[in-house]
Amino acid sequence: DGGDSGRKKDGDGSGNNKDAGSNSKKVQVEVPATIADSESGKTYNRLRLLGRGGFAKCYELRDTSTNVLFAGKVIPKTRVAKPAQREKIDREVALHRTLIHRHVVAFHHSFEDEQNIYIILENCNRKCLANIIRHRKTLTEPEVRYYLRQVAEGVKYLHGLGIVHRDLKLGNFFLTENMDVKIGDFGLATNAAEEGEDRKRTICGTPNYIAPEVLQKKGHGYAADMWALGCAIYTMLAGRPPFETASLKTTYARILEGHYVMPTRLVTSSKALLRALLCKDPLQRLTLDGVTEHDFLTKEFVPTRLPHTACTVEPRFP
Ligand code: ADP
Repeated sequence: DGGDSGRKKDGDGSGNNKDAGSNSKKVQVEVPATIADSESGKTYNRLRLLGRGGFAKCYELRDTSTNVLFAGKVIPKTRVAKPAQREKIDREVALHRTLIHRHVVAFHHSFEDEQNIYIILENCNRKCLANIIRHRKTLTEPEVRYYLRQVAEGVKYLHGLGIVHRDLKLGNFFLTENMDVKIGDFGLATNAAEEGEDRKRTICGTPNYIAPEVLQKKGHGYAADMWALGCAIYTMLAGRPPFETASLKTTYARILEGHYVMPTRLVTSSKALLRALLCKDPLQRLTLDGVTEHDFLTKEFVPTRLPHTACTVEPRFP
């Protein structure tokens, strides 16, 4: 699956995958209407469901003392009963809690009770870019520049800390009320500095936009994030992922060949950017600085704001 729907069941809460948890055989424990953290004394009212992931259900939560809204990931302990699963969550939390950036989903707090683990995050109530693509099919080039400029800043921050996200995709680019982009989901992320070569080669889970060198088990470095960024940009402009086919085998073969069809109705700088990112050789691939300095972002029109109506209809630029 070269698409944005591979690893997770209904990762963006669209309801397309019905087996994402509620239908699982285990008896589902209702998430309480009021969630209390006995340690901090904070309580949260559970509001609407924002989405579901592989393990988590994500709700809008209101801090009862401040009325501030958050996104709360609720992970039933029954779903992370195996030590390896629990360790994965703990690693994700340990990494995410250290991150503070304008274009990274803010981590506020985490705690647990008998039933669940709770992760309190910045509320990205306009969901994610995958959701927008589902409504809009394709985006205009100025919109893609708007989103990319912010995503690139977030990724630059992560790479600067030695963190490879390893699952950059439209479903992990979240949007706030004011249409600010925030990178989220650090479930596959890794700190390059802390990892030995062996660990870097083991992937626990399949990234959606898997790079050729990752398929060939030649490691998973910063360049793999750049490949994924290229795939995400392509998907926004073309309305489908670059290497998607009916069979995974064919998709992987195309990735290894670097075989994709360039969308025709794009300006030269867009095509050049895609070519430079969807480059088979990780050493020849465009770097993050290459993206921020690229004509696509420096020579073309980049909107400074987008109206939230852009989630469902094509915006008009003056
Ligand atoms: P999992 O790690 O269990 O797969 P995700 O991190 O993918 O869970 O979250 C599941 C879903 O919850 C996401 O696809 C999205 O719809 C929603 N979600 C996650 N984080 C946020 C957030 N900060 N703001 C709003 N919605 C979110």
